[in-house]
Amino acid sequence: MNIIIFGPNGSGKGTQGAIIKEKYGFPHIETGVIFRENIGGGTELGKKAKEYIDKGDLVPDDITIPMVLNKLQEDACKDGWILDGFPRNKAQAEAMVEGMKKEGMPLDYVVEIQLPREVAKLRITGRRLCANDNNHPNHIAFDAIKPVEKDGKLVCRVCGGELSTRADDQDLDAVDKRHDIYYDDNTGTMAAVNVFKAVGGNTKVIEVNGEPSIQEVTDAVLGGLK
Ligand code: AMP
Repeated sequence: MNIIIFGPNGSGKGTQGAIIKEKYGFPHIETGVIFRENIGGGTELGKKAKEYIDKGDLVPDDITIPMVLNKLQEDACKDGWILDGFPRNKAQAEAMVEGMKKEGMPLDYVVEIQLPREVAKLRITGRRLCANDNNHPNHIAFDAIKPVEKDGKLVCRVCGGELSTRADDQDLDAVDKRHDIYYDDNTGTMAAVNVFKAVGGNTKVIEVNGEPSIQEVTDAVLGGLK
């Protein structure tokens, strides 16, 4: 089963992707995570990507598109994948459609988590990253996923791991820039969403309201994947 999941930063897209992964066992490919791992590892790719990411800009297409298309052709992805964070603009979407056609790769589902821009912005600055597992959601403003306090410090509510913030989550200009890109239906991510909504054939589109609780959003997403 091949799935692309869309949603603005702050919509809970990563959380839902992780839940789908857990249920179906397919690799959850998050372009943002790949970049951050490369930055952490000090690789050439990481060095190139960092200057864009810190400002909230997209990493250039000539780096990102081949990186993703190669990843999807790895053995681990042959039974299915969940792609999260790509495509991020119209050019990436068109390259993806073209690349999939060339490889005879089907697309089963397009999941779109919808969230008004002002709600997405509020959610971003409170989220915290667990050092042990990127899929442990923590947010200081939501009771259901609030970090816990240990020795006077906030730690991961799932595993007690150390928490950190993302530089691009605390910089309001960078947050705005990422949302400018997401909500742009001319050449940005909403344009990419529209490219994939128009693919047709056996591709099913699942539109989900991202405002209710994580569980309700999960129910709507998993209900659509049947
Ligand atoms: P995310 O974790 O999805 O919020 O991504 C963090 C940052 O990584 C984005 O703000 C971009 O700078 C970069 N990034 C992630 N996915 C892409 C993509 N598909 N194309 C270009 N840049 C990306």
